[in-house]
Amino acid sequence: MGKALIIGCGGVASVAIHKCCQNNDVFEEICIASRTKSKCDALKAKLDGGKTKITTAQVDANNVDELIALIEEVKPDIVMNLALPYQDLTIMDACLATKTHYLDTANYEPEDTAKFEYKWQWDYRERFEKAGITALLGSGFDPGVTSVFSAYALKHHFDEIEYIDILDCNAGDHGYPFATNFNPEINIREVSAKGSYWENGKWIETEPMEIKRVYNFPEIGAKDMYLLHHEEIESLALNIPGIKRIRFFMTFGESYLTHLKCLENVGMTSIEPIEFEGKQIIPLQFLKAVLPDPASLGPRTKGKTNIGCIFQGKKDGKEKTYYLYNVCDHEACYQEVGSQAVSYTTGVPAMIGAMMVMTGKWNKPGVYNIEEFDPDPFMEALNKWGLPWKEDFNPELVDEQTAQQLEPEHAR
Ligand code: NDP
Repeated sequence: MGKALIIGCGGVASVAIHKCCQNNDVFEEICIASRTKSKCDALKAKLDGGKTKITTAQVDANNVDELIALIEEVKPDIVMNLALPYQDLTIMDACLATKTHYLDTANYEPEDTAKFEYKWQWDYRERFEKAGITALLGSGFDPGVTSVFSAYALKHHFDEIEYIDILDCNAGDHGYPFATNFNPEINIREVSAKGSYWENGKWIETEPMEIKRVYNFPEIGAKDMYLLHHEEIESLALNIPGIKRIRFFMTFGESYLTHLKCLENVGMTSIEPIEFEGKQIIPLQFLKAVLPDPASLGPRTKGKTNIGCIFQGKKDGKEKTYYLYNVCDHEACYQEVGSQAVSYTTGVPAMIGAMMVMTGKWNKPGVYNIEEFDPDPFMEALNKWGLPWKEDFNPELVDEQTAQQLEPEHAR
């Protein structure tokens, strides 16, 4: 049916590429282009021989002219941006110049400030609309599947959703004292930032890791989780009418947090350049270089992830609670595509989002967050392509069994 240009060849891209090759009726041809071409060639060598034709290319995705030249040569139906959030705008510029659909899994973040928000990408709305092309933002798991879950809950189960708690649990164990499950730089920037949640039309800011809860996750058990700022809150706050509160919690073990605190205390998580032996270096980028590569965690990681949303609201005048979640097994993912579940749960929805646009199931020129499309075909595809979802109409609520004293005074 069509051709995709995939930019980036890291953990997430590798899963998406495996999945595109499985879904070869839609992805007849793919071009894998990244900064380090040898990684693209190695993946091509592994996957060649199937029905999907694979080519590779070298590209610096910070360079719009290089991107335009590549897109003009490959002539894809869609560009899948699976590089880093820093490259979102340059890739969007190149898509505009060549009138090609665009997809990503994380919103734009300037390299020199750890602040991610949608405003930069939403500024492209009119230009994409005029060009007659679609930009699908946030087609990973969170954002991505959690946003589609929200659209699905609203469409099928509620007249009004008042509260959403997004719960991201990774109970995987890779055996290292400290490692991050995806790009360490992006991961550490995210978790060392202040937390925040949306309540009654405004953001409430917290200190990093200030709000802690314990939740008993289906198929996993009780885990500590912490409130973080997360990008899907920003768009869901606008796209779920009448919403009163949206929070995002992620699980972290004690060892991870102790290491992080120590690294922070000694200045290793800073993104301010410092001079070292006559050279400017950024401590966080140096830290990334000494930490295990997330791609190397695949063969070592055991256990499961459980990511989902608890919705509370009204249906036919009655209070209703609904929990939608996916459980994914690290070892099963590794067996299937050679990556652990964190990359898997992001790479599969990236492939599905691209399929939605390429097949015309989602066809709206402009820049859209994923919850702005009909969730049904995406939900069906999740079941088919490796991320089946489960429902619970009587789940435990986040605040039910937690120690209230852990919550600081000002956040109450
Ligand atoms: P990795 O670091 O494993 O991979 C990033 C890839 O991008 C690498 O192949 C890297 O090349 C390439 N790259 C970086 N800079 C450039 C550039 N200037 N030009 C071309 N290629 C470049 O990251 P992940 O796969 O873990 O993450 C990919 C994306 O997915 C990130 O944006 C991340 O935020 C997002 N993500 C989203 C999630 C969600 O649920 N929505 C969850 C997890 C991640 P090289 O090999 O040379 O370093």
